[in-house]
Amino acid sequence: MAHHAIPVPNKAVLHHYLTLPEPEDKIVATYIWFHEKILSKTRTLSNLPTPTKLEDIPIWDAGVLKPPKGCKYAQIYLQPVAIYKDPFLRGKNLLVLCVGLNEDKTPTECNKRQTCLEALERAKHTKPWFGLEQEYILLGLDKRPFGWPLNGFPSSEIRHCGVGTDAVCGRDIADAHYLACLYAGIKICGTNAEAMLSQWEYQIGPCEGISIGDEVWMSRYILLRIAEDFGALVSFDPKPVEGKWFSSGAHMNFSTEAMRENGGIKEIERAVEKLRKTHDRHMMFYDQKKGEDNLRRLTGDPSHFYQFTSGVANRYVSVRIPLHCALEKKGYLEDRRPAANCDPYSVVEEIVKTTVLNE
Ligand code: ADP
Ligand code: MN
Ligand code: MN
Ligand code: MN
Ligand code: MN
Repeated sequence: MAHHAIPVPNKAVLHHYLTLPEPEDKIVATYIWFHEKILSKTRTLSNLPTPTKLEDIPIWDAGVLKPPKGCKYAQIYLQPVAIYKDPFLRGKNLLVLCVGLNEDKTPTECNKRQTCLEALERAKHTKPWFGLEQEYILLGLDKRPFGWPLNGFPSSEIRHCGVGTDAVCGRDIADAHYLACLYAGIKICGTNAEAMLSQWEYQIGPCEGISIGDEVWMSRYILLRIAEDFGALVSFDPKPVEGKWFSSGAHMNFSTEAMRENGGIKEIERAVEKLRKTHDRHMMFYDQKKGEDNLRRLTGDPSHFYQFTSGVANRYVSVRIPLHCALEKKGYLEDRRPAANCDPYSVVEEIVKTTVLNE
């Protein structure tokens, strides 16, 4: 296997340029979108009102490798849907989350936001909240987990919430990501080391409505960018290491106002029963490959791919009611089925359709 020198940029040199005085009438806007992968490009915008609002940010466009289905040109529109402060260029500069539109302004195949928004619009009287636990693993350029021995494997102990040089690897990346997300204006609410060496988790939420999807996508972009500074790769693959090794999930926590009120446990239990009946459909929308990725992840796992299970404070089920919610008889449920590479818009759309809209 070829070994590459890891080209870690020298941020002390960059600092000189980052601290140059900012132009008064211009900002730098980095447009970020998902089209089979997370992509970005950057432009200067002049004379924007302060504070800048989403409506002030113009539509842009991007070349794609082949014309989207039914389209003539290999180009899509980038429609801004959310803005955040830029933790990399800082100052007045912005990160602009976009979705892709076809020539006729319909959503591209990779743009799952529109249908999610439509479902949420019809469910908005229930005031749905969401929180996502994003797991990932850091890899070196040789595609082996960061810090794993070149010939062999680390000891197989569980490193969940681990502390110490022999327990974790890459904490600087997790910490930098946490602070950068907070600065950007993302509702990141926690982080912890995960089961495998170099595997980490962070949590976003609780977010009302569509912002959960926006913030999760932007948080993934920020993580990829920070990992560049450390010469690491980020893998959201649901089964990053074959064999007995752990997998990466993206548990979606969900509640409606009725679930959060006293006695809301009844409403939570009703939702769990609806999720049981629609299990097969949901599994088509919980990864990037209509279930194929999750099949790799959940094979041999007690939370089965084919079979729906539920329980209180039980981590080996499809949907869990957290202990504190069972005790307080209100709160939220945790759908443990989404894979780490899921599209949060699709997951939210399915949960809302099943539990609120009865579709
Ligand atoms: P776990 O015990 O499964 O590891 P975490 O603490 O990692 O749980 O994550 C809990 C998630 O639940 C967070 O993303 C948080 O934002 C979310 N959450 C908390 N309260 C609610 C709620 N009422 N509705 C929806 N999500 C919630
Ligand atoms: Mn060009
Ligand atoms: Mn967690
Ligand atoms: Mn976890
Ligand atoms: Mn969880």
